[in-house]
Parts: sequence; structure tokens; C-alpha cells
Amino acid sequence: MNNKFYSGFVSLVGRPNVGKSTLMNALVGEKIAIISPKPQTTRNKIQAILTQDDFQMIFIDTPGIHKPKFKLDNYMVKAAETTFGEVDAVLMLTEPQGKVHPADAHILERLKNVKTPVILVINKIDTADEKRQLETAKAYSEVFNFREIMFVSATTGKNLDELLKTIKKYLPEGPKYFPDDMVTDQPERQIASEIIREKALQLLREEIPHGIAVEVSSMKKRPDRELVDVEATIFCEKDSHKGIIIGRGGNMLKNIGTRSREDISALLGSNVNLQLWVKVKKDWRDSDFLLKNFGYDMKKI
Ligand code: GDP
Ligand code: MG
Repeated sequence: MNNKFYSGFVSLVGRPNVGKSTLMNALVGEKIAIISPKPQTTRNKIQAILTQDDFQMIFIDTPGIHKPKFKLDNYMVKAAETTFGEVDAVLMLTEPQGKVHPADAHILERLKNVKTPVILVINKIDTADEKRQLETAKAYSEVFNFREIMFVSATTGKNLDELLKTIKKYLPEGPKYFPDDMVTDQPERQIASEIIREKALQLLREEIPHGIAVEVSSMKKRPDRELVDVEATIFCEKDSHKGIIIGRGGNMLKNIGTRSREDISALLGSNVNLQLWVKVKKDWRDSDFLLKNFGYDMKKI
């Protein structure tokens, strides 16, 4: 009998849209990371926790690493890089595209001096034949010394057990950092604001290129019944954007609200009364003050 317990932190990196959030949710089995067909939905380091009999893995869903354009982007790059050295393993996610994606080359450059083991995870194998999967593995192993290479599909669940077994090899012996039933340390408010942001981005498509932020200002349970009142504000940069977000006759905002309410309701396990506002805050992405106001503080990382 071996009664040892293993625990550690695992960071997920990869360019936008390769399936980091989907994979994390598939591994942990709850909707905690935000999944969207549009890139850059994930702005925060969301931790998901998977606890089994003999191990606990704490996953960090890292925002995409790319050339910073705004202060907020800069924050995201810095947050991602800081995590590499602090974790027990890095999962580098990519797709079976047959060759090294230029954006991945950029990420790997940043990973070169990190001592943490890096595992290449080729996701979405349901979209490519075996030949293409192997070509991809070969191309990546020529540019970086990966400790392991795994082939998985986050949506079909293929090889996810093997992936967990592989990650487990790199966990040190350690304590249970979080209780068994805890799947995330993110406050519900923050997850709710990510849900609203996700729905807004899905519905608005390309009309407002990542210029929104969402703040949940209040979340209160009614004492007399199973109902939670949620108040949230969508911030945008321009008056014209405000008009688009509200939509004709308020239709767009209503739509965002309805979809968000369903997910927040599932998250809280309760009925939800959601009040949504839209406000203009000019150039919020470039202002340190406003970034702090939205909860992104450079000094904390
Ligand atoms: P992230 O930006 O890296 O977090 O990517 P997401 O998790 O948001 O996923 C981006 C898109 O890829 C979504 O539409 C997912 O449904 C899709 N996706 C993720 N994993 C897979 C997979 O294994 N197979 C397929 N076919 N699609 C996937
Ligand atoms: Mg994501």
C-alpha cells in the first residue's frame, strides 16, 4: 500500500482558441473557465482544482501570450510568464496543424529558460488524421525539448485519463491545498462577470473588438426564497459601442441578459434576477487607474 499524497500546480498555455478552457473544464468537469469561439475571452488566472484519492492538481488557465498592445495585454503577458516558474508542470496546448504555429514559436521562446517540465498537448485530434498528428509532434519536438507529448481531444474526452496520469508523474508529494469539493477558488462574482462577458462577446461578434469589461457590483440572496439578485455593468469605450450593446429596442442587452442568467443560475444553483447596465469609460484599457478598478493590479503579480 502506498499512502502518499501528491499535489501541485499546473499551468495551461497556448495561443487563443486552442482549447485551454475546454480542456480544463473537461478535466475538472464543471463550467468554470470561459469557453468561446472568439479568442481572448480568458482575462483572469482561473484556478480549477481536481482532487482524487491520491492527488490534487490545481490548474491555472493562463491568458494568451502575444505582443502587448495595451496595458491590459501587458498585464496578461506578465501574468502568464510569472506562472511558469512557480508551477510544477506547464501544459503547452496546440492543434494538429502539421507545423509549428508562429505564435507558438513565440511562446516557446519564452519558455526556453524555465526549469519547469513542459508537456506538449496536441488537442483537437478529432479534427486531424494520425499522419497530421505525428507531423505536428515531429515539428514541435524539433524546436523544443518537451518532457512529454500527448494527443488528446478535450471535446470527445480522448486520452484525457492518460493526460492526467502523465501530469501526475510531475507532482511532488504534498498536502491537499483545497477541500475535496472545491473546484475553483474564484469568487462567484468574478465567475459571473466572466459569464456575462462571454455571452456579450459571443452575441456582439466582431462589432466591439475586445473593448468591454464587466463588473458585478452586487450579488444578494433573498432571505425568503431561492432567488439571487445580481447587478452588473458592462463597460465599453465608445458611445457608439454602447448603442450596439443595448441594441434596437434594447434587444441585444436583453439577449445578453437572458443567456447570462441561465449560466449564472446553473453556477449558483438558484434562480437569478439579473439587472444589466451599460456604461462608457473611455480608454479604460490604457489606464492604470481603471485597470486597478477592474481588479487587474500589476503589483500583485
Ligand atoms: P482557449 O481560448 O484556448 O481557452 O480555447 P477554448 O477552450 O475557448 O476553445 C476554443 C474553441 O475550440 C471552442 O469552440 C471549443 O469548443 C473548441 N475546441 C476545444 N477543444 C476541442 C477539441 O478537442 N476538438 C474540437 N473539434 N474542438 C475543440
Ligand atoms: Mg480560454
